[in-house]
Amino acid sequence: MDRREFSKSITAATIALGLGRLKLSAATPPPQIAITMDDFTWANPVKLTAEKRLNAILAALRSHSIKAAGFVIGRNADSETGQSLLRQWDNAGHLICNHTYSHRNYSDPRMTTATYRDDVLHAEAVLKSYPHFRKLFRFPMLKEGDTAEKRDGFRAFLKQHNYRTGHVTIDNSDWIVDERLRVRLAREPGAELKPYRDFYLKHMWERAIYYDELGRKVLGRNVKHTVLTHFNLLNGLFLGDLLDMFKSRGWRLIDAETAFTDSVFAAEPKLLPAGESIIWALAKATGKIDKDLRYPAEDGEYERAEMDRLGL
Ligand SMILES: [Zn+2]
Repeated sequence: MDRREFSKSITAATIALGLGRLKLSAATPPPQIAITMDDFTWANPVKLTAEKRLNAILAALRSHSIKAAGFVIGRNADSETGQSLLRQWDNAGHLICNHTYSHRNYSDPRMTTATYRDDVLHAEAVLKSYPHFRKLFRFPMLKEGDTAEKRDGFRAFLKQHNYRTGHVTIDNSDWIVDERLRVRLAREPGAELKPYRDFYLKHMWERAIYYDELGRKVLGRNVKHTVLTHFNLLNGLFLGDLLDMFKSRGWRLIDAETAFTDSVFAAEPKLLPAGESIIWALAKATGKIDKDLRYPAEDGEYERAEMDRLGL
């Protein structure tokens, strides 16, 4: 091949590659992900005050022009400090959703449907006056009942009160990383933060990929993801890095309200105990994708050994 021919064939190859890339990107739209943030526990902060944590979290969301959904424990909003934090969250345009008043486990055999209903309505009374309050409900610990009667009874109650379940699609254990970080900083205020950041980002990425693939296996399509995070020190420090990571790896950041329009959130898998990520529950309910599905789907236990190894 002479030089000219060689250059022609290179150009052709480049064009073919380019077209291939175009085709590929048209066939595989980027995964979409919204931030959901639970609990709003603000008491006894380490390193950052609740106000500083909130400001950092709001700044990270603002810099990516996205609106999150906060699943707020009513008890945490039932005080002047709680109200002041929540007003700022609301003023920034983020959703306020129901996460019960006292954050108890619905799958506990001692918990009754009647007690749980009262707890949800109690939280609603505390939260409903915020302009961005939405009737989305998330079960604490994602536990949706240990018997068919409790599970179905609560689904009926939620419908009757015009609630939708604010499911998580990407479950994870951010809370254990936060817990380890706070213990470390209480003992050693100058401890290096980067190893915790790196572990957190790696953990979240692994879980995102896992649930994204599981979702395609069970539904045969992409879902609009809702990732679980908590209002904690970890996200006060690193939410911005988390958002940057997803964006730089080709994921599209979307508003929580947009994500919750996905039909996956209306699914009602017949599973016991009920709960976990909606994707996990749907996969489990098929009975076919069983071998990789551990229970609980996520738990700090799964991360502890690796964190011990890394000295975190
Ligand atoms: Zn919670």
